Amino acid sequence: MMQSAAVRLTLFYLAIIMALSIGFSVVIYRLSYREMDRSIPQGGFIKLVDPESFTSFTELRDRKIAESERRLKANLVLLNLGTLVVGAALSYGLARRTLEPIEEAFEAQGRFTADASHELRTPLTAMQTTIEVGLRNPKLSLSEAKELLRGTLDEVKKVSALSNGLLKLTRSNGRDIPKRRVYMDKVAAEAVSQLELAAKNKEIAIIDEVGSHAVMGDHISLKELITILLDNAIKYSASGTAVHLKSKVQGKSLLLDVSDRGAGIKATDAMYIFDRFYRADQSRSRDRVEGYGLGLPIAKQIAEMHGGSIDVRSKLGEGSTFTIKLPLANRP
Ligand code: ADP
Repeated sequence: MMQSAAVRLTLFYLAIIMALSIGFSVVIYRLSYREMDRSIPQGGFIKLVDPESFTSFTELRDRKIAESERRLKANLVLLNLGTLVVGAALSYGLARRTLEPIEEAFEAQGRFTADASHELRTPLTAMQTTIEVGLRNPKLSLSEAKELLRGTLDEVKKVSALSNGLLKLTRSNGRDIPKRRVYMDKVAAEAVSQLELAAKNKEIAIIDEVGSHAVMGDHISLKELITILLDNAIKYSASGTAVHLKSKVQGKSLLLDVSDRGAGIKATDAMYIFDRFYRADQSRSRDRVEGYGLGLPIAKQIAEMHGGSIDVRSKLGEGSTFTIKLPLANRP
């Protein structure tokens, strides 16, 4: 499909180039013809090398003009043929270049849809199997039925969490966020209080040392960004450890660190953890760590929507530090 689009675009560009080239050729031809006509004087006789033959000046003039006109036409045709060949090559290059980002976006969209369908299929298949087995059992007791429903409910929750993540990713993609003055200490405190219970259940201490720095952005999105990192820090840490939130000003930017003493990330995984649906092997194999690999891509998207970035430093077995970099707001 992209190939035929490239050919069509090439023809379109080439048509523009040739229309211009032919247009200019016509103008050049007319101007040159007029110039020839003007610059060669009219009237009189001229003696040619052969003394026997006398040619009228007008005849000679016409012949000269015709000769120049023929040469001019030949040159212009050659020029247009050259333009056609060079123009075709240039147009094709330009068309490919124009279509490249569209092609990439197209492929990314296709991959995203395929990945999303694949992730959705797993819980859906589990639900289908559970329900079918239950229905096939004629002596299904009430407690067995309740167990079956409980299992199905868990899968429904997974599908719901997955579709929420997908919605967040697609909704905020390329969206302009409302930009207001947001104080990061408040945002961090709200994120911490949201995850306090989860941390307490795992006996993980959250140490919040974020200062009162202002950035321009959307309070809810920024809270979500910190919540994702904090949630991961808790999820991938052993009980009895601590998670630190710290802030630091660097030039015109605010650096906000979320550090844990948890499982850490392999260098080979660290390159991909911001990709959609990517989960490091150890989090996949340990079944109890729930997730779909959508948290960090959402976090990255939010940071970028605010003109910032997100980075990770990590050592396997020692812990990880995720750093959010955001432009500081100007003083009020
Ligand atoms: P999820 O946590 O749902 O799997 P994320 O996109 O939030 O998805 O994270 C992607 C992967 O990055 C995780 O599966 C995990 O392997 C790794 N990861 C993220 N945060 C941490 C962390 N604080 N410590 C160790 N590994 C992490």
